[in-house]
Amino acid sequence: MNSEQIKNSLNISPAIRVGVLGFGGLGQAAAKVVAGKQEMILVAAADQKGYAYAAEGLNTEASVAAYQAQGSVGYLEPIGTLTNQSIQDLIEIAEVDGYFLALPNLPNDFIPNVAKEFIKSGWRGVLVDAIKRTTAVEQLLAMKDELQAAGITYMTGCGATPGLLTAAAALAAQSYAEIHQVEITFGVGIANWEAYRATVREDIGHMPGYTVEAARAMTDAEVEALLDKTNGVLTLKNMEHADDVMLEVAGIVGRDRVTVGGVVDTRNSKKPLSTNVKVTGRTFEGKISTHTFTLGDETSMAANVCGPAFGYLKAGRQLHQRGIYGIFTAAEIMPQFVR
Ligand code: NAD
Repeated sequence: MNSEQIKNSLNISPAIRVGVLGFGGLGQAAAKVVAGKQEMILVAAADQKGYAYAAEGLNTEASVAAYQAQGSVGYLEPIGTLTNQSIQDLIEIAEVDGYFLALPNLPNDFIPNVAKEFIKSGWRGVLVDAIKRTTAVEQLLAMKDELQAAGITYMTGCGATPGLLTAAAALAAQSYAEIHQVEITFGVGIANWEAYRATVREDIGHMPGYTVEAARAMTDAEVEALLDKTNGVLTLKNMEHADDVMLEVAGIVGRDRVTVGGVVDTRNSKKPLSTNVKVTGRTFEGKISTHTFTLGDETSMAANVCGPAFGYLKAGRQLHQRGIYGIFTAAEIMPQFVR
């Protein structure tokens, strides 16, 4: 018997082979999260300038070191490859069960277009994103039939918000006969904005007077000048966040009853406030009440995005193995804990 047959006879499933597309702040954190798991193995990573692929698993530390020293995992010796079409190349050559798309969604249809590339290629498997904007999730939801026909199980909005907090709201809603309000407030503390350029740019796109396009076009110096004016702090209110469409599609509450806002401190890893979701509703007895779910202040944005992303990747893998394809949101499916 070969090792695969032995595993099958012992009923031990082989580790899920995962890839991370985008190797910036969240992509690198994702690689570190997978490094601590037995049920998953990181076999592929890609950024704008290259990729690394190894069927037996990537060395996370060496991959992160190559990216930090030279700006791309494509420099990872001896397996890295430099290319300006790393995603297309990986789709062609890599054997991967599921990808986490830790990519910037700039412009707003960037990730939907990556999903189209996967559909066109004939690749089958699980895709997970931590996309944030309502309009981006709507574009993906509209691709349901194509994803289904392609044999792709796509899990959307599976980071922290949307993601963990949306799922918590879906769970909290169960106590109520009617949901009145879902209010998400996040606090993010990062020591320097350059570790999460796309996240910070996308957040600037939510500020009054800015758009996604304007934020995308800003140079690093312009971002720094803006952050200098605000002492490194971005205060965001009434954001266009997909938690609303996800809770609406799940049949829990209309999108007009969902609000998302937060404070991002780009100069201090301490959170400026405790991230929480408040779910207010009426019970079957007629009592109005609020459930509050608050994240521990010590948990970082990276922990609260990458943990759920892989939890949903595992859940998506189970759906995929049962022949269930199409698109699902974090409000519809329970993430599976990855051991
Ligand atoms: P980042 O700017 O640190 O890194 C982006 C990475 O993507 C870089 O490695 C870059 O080289 C790579 N990339 C860019 N274009 C590429 C291409 N064409 N092909 C391959 N790779 C490419 O980004 P980040 O701050 O880690 O954010 C990633 C995403 O995560 C953003 O879209 C952000 O909105 C999202 N996010 C979601 C949540 C949530 O809770 N849902 C929270 C934070 C961030």
